[in-house]
Amino acid sequence: MNDPHPHEAPGDSPLRRALPGFRWERVDEMRYKTEGSAPFRDVTRQVLFHETELHCEWRYFEVAAGGHSTLERHEHAHAVMILRGRGRCLVGARLYDVTEHDLITVPPLTWHQFRAAADVPLGFLCLVNKERDRPQLPDAQALAQLRGDPAIADFIRVGG
Ligand code: MN
Repeated sequence: MNDPHPHEAPGDSPLRRALPGFRWERVDEMRYKTEGSAPFRDVTRQVLFHETELHCEWRYFEVAAGGHSTLERHEHAHAVMILRGRGRCLVGARLYDVTEHDLITVPPLTWHQFRAAADVPLGFLCLVNKERDRPQLPDAQALAQLRGDPAIADFIRVGG
């Protein structure tokens, strides 16, 4: 078979080409979270860049149709760009409909959760500090406060 890119050295090439289905060369697709008991449903994670010099990681998450990320908060911030599909997110005390190429800022210590629409996945790029604190899950008091808003009560998912 002809190599379509004969000048690329495997392994340490600066270029990793896009593959079909929101995959990339030499990027492993992983389950979203592999430790602890954080509740989520149908989410994959790919770390696109983990650059020591930049002190950040750039990840691609994909929430399958009907799925959701963990409801959490932490000291570190997120910079998110929706890359695929459609869904909604909670950031702080508000819900937002989001679609391709929207940008979402999640400030420090702000509750956030992403849900894909029922019929399409929600894929997004997420930039974070390489060194970062562990996510916190809501306790009963935080959940009660969030649920004070009926729309948020209806939106949030705290089970897998
Ligand atoms: Mn987070």
